[in-house]
This record gives sequence, C-alpha cells and structure tokens, in this order.
Amino acid sequence: MNANIFEKANQIIASCDTAYIGVIDESGNPSVSTVSPIKPKNIFEAYFATGTDANKTKRLLKNNRASVCYCLDGANITLVGTAEVLTDQATKSQYWLDWFIDHFSGGKTDPSYCIIKFTTKRVSLWIDHEGAEFTIDSLLAIQSRCGLLCDGCAYKESHGCAGCIALNGHPFWGECPVAACCQAKGYAHCGECGELPCDTLREFSCGDSEHSDKPAGARISVCRAWAAKKP
Ligand code: SF4
Ligand code: SF4
Repeated sequence: MNANIFEKANQIIASCDTAYIGVIDESGNPSVSTVSPIKPKNIFEAYFATGTDANKTKRLLKNNRASVCYCLDGANITLVGTAEVLTDQATKSQYWLDWFIDHFSGGKTDPSYCIIKFTTKRVSLWIDHEGAEFTIDSLLAIQSRCGLLCDGCAYKESHGCAGCIALNGHPFWGECPVAACCQAKGYAHCGECGELPCDTLREFSCGDSEHSDKPAGARISVCRAWAAKKP
C-alpha cells in the first residue's frame, strides 16, 4: 500500500456513477444491489439515497455490516465496514439531488426518502496490476512527514530504511528537506502546516521517481487525511 494507490483509488471512486452494496439478508446470506454514490466519493465513506421500504434499508436496520464495491476499467475497489440509515431532514436536504424526484415525488421532505451512510473499516483493491489490502486505521496512522506510507515502502527491506520519522528526517538516502522543514516547524506531518502544498513538498519525495506522486498530489491527499483523520 502506498500513497499513489490511495489517490488512484479515490480518483476511481470519484468517477464511478454506480457502485454495488452488499448487505446481510434475513437468512444471514449476502445480498448485493446496485446504488448510485453521492458525494463525498472516497475510500473513507459513501452516501447513497434509497427508500425507507427498500430491502437493503430494512436489512441494514437489523444488521449494519456492509460492503461497497466500485469497478472501472479493470480496477476494483472493495470497501468493508458498517452502514447506517439516516432519516433526519438536515441530512436528507444536504444530499438531495434533482433526479431523486423520479423516485421520491415528495422531494427532499418525502418520508420514504432516506440516506445510507457507509463507513469503511477495511479496503481491498486491485488497480494498475497492483493489489493492496489495508485497514483505515493503518492508513490514518502517521508514517512519514510528507505523506508517504513507509509501511508499504519497498526500501524498508531492500535498503533497511526505518522511515523518516524513526530516523529523525534522515531516510537511507540522506537528509530529507521535507522532513527537516516539518520537524523544524514542530509538526508531526505536513498536513498540520498551513503552507501545504509547498514547493519543497512538491519537489522532494524520498529522492527518486519511484516515490514521486503518481497521480500528482497523492502525498498531499494523505497529509490532508491525516490532518482530518479522514478526507
Ligand atoms: S525510503 Fe522514504 S518512504 Fe521509504 S521507508 Fe524510507 S522514509 Fe519511508
Ligand atoms: S508543507 Fe512544506 S513548508 Fe509546511 S512543513 Fe511541509 S515541507 Fe515545510
């Protein structure tokens, strides 16, 4: 698991108009149906509009364990976690989209309209011929100053790098300008800094192209998630 695959997953999820949600039915078996994700679209949580009398709604009220899957061009992102059914008017108004009127003639105050909020605990994915499995808790554990995920770094074993935090800003290749700046300012990571994203962070990423942001901004997204403990 690395910062790049985290950002790729978020970009794929953001571009998916359809997802699949699996819930536990009355006999204890999994039951999957299609859903249309509403913003925010990322690996941390998902919101779906549905009816209060829908099977998945009734099932989630009895058993809140759920799984959500996104697929796009051979990529697959499976999220496992819990879901809750939200019926308060503030939430219903916040997530209302115009096309919902085709399903809920009473509009955003229609009593049969509700929102499912899914919260991820574990992620399993396959993107660009690379697989990863991780928990959200492990992703949100601060692993570096710049947003790299040292736990999944190949240099940990091949070059005996213990990570820039453990090594006080000196990974195996030398002093890191990002870590040095971050530590001088007294921050645990760059997500705590008001200057994010700065030129230093953009220019340095453990010194080689393998660690550079692909797609751009991958470490910035991780830093922001660390700062918010979610996106
Ligand atoms: S090379 Fe960089 S990303 Fe890899 S473990 Fe060391 S500090 Fe972390
Ligand atoms: S975001 Fe830039 S300025 Fe802020 S601590 Fe990190 S490297 Fe330093």
